[in-house]
Amino acid sequence: MTTPVIELRDVSRGYDDGPPALRDVTLTVREGEAVAVLGPSGSGKSTLLNLIAGLDRPDRGTVTVDGVRVDALGEAASARHRRARVGLVFQFFNLLDDLTVTDNVVLPARLAGTNRRAAAERAAELLDRLGVARHADAYPGRLSGGERQRVAVARALVNRPALLLADEPTGALDTASGQDVGALLTELNAAGQTLVVVTHDLALARSCTRRTVRLVDGRIAGDETAEGAR
Ligand code: ADP
Repeated sequence: MTTPVIELRDVSRGYDDGPPALRDVTLTVREGEAVAVLGPSGSGKSTLLNLIAGLDRPDRGTVTVDGVRVDALGEAASARHRRARVGLVFQFFNLLDDLTVTDNVVLPARLAGTNRRAAAERAAELLDRLGVARHADAYPGRLSGGERQRVAVARALVNRPALLLADEPTGALDTASGQDVGALLTELNAAGQTLVVVTHDLALARSCTRRTVRLVDGRIAGDETAEGAR
């Protein structure tokens, strides 16, 4: 058994009004796994993702990511942990439009204390690997949605995170670009990257993950691993 990258134990999280967003969720994701989190709107997917990313704290239970109890960290420590160990990819890319593609990718490395030259080298290597090197000096606004998402994935990987966490990464893309991003995530996982993808997109879940965790009303209603596990 490989090391757990994510361990949630009996995690509950509620908001002032309404029923709990997550109830008694226990979940382990191990190094090298690719997991899709599926569920209807309002089932708790974003809440789960925010807890794993350390952007939110549970009311009860513990959240451990790459060996660190993120539920017990203060805001600054949590931000440092996230920057170093968790790569985040969002539906709408969240690139900075007034920075070039390269500078978008370099920024989190610089914030994590990597020197300018090493950060630039790492960015160039990733942009090349993700097939967007020709856009290195362009501004994100000039790129297609699929290309922007590739840049966002490069940015997420720049600090060699233990975990790549993607929230509806194909939600704003056309079918072909979505498949392209799915293939990219599959490739990264095949190279060993632990991956959690929150999505409505069943085709994406099928293409790039073998394990599916299904949320309904804040509870884990299913956790299945497809046959023919790699
Ligand atoms: P999903 O991502 O699956 O759509 P969410 O985690 O966003 O689900 O939401 C789960 C439940 O928690 C929903 O009932 C939602 O209305 C509620 N919720 C989420 N965020 C907040 C918030 N900041 N304040 C109040 N209620 C929230």
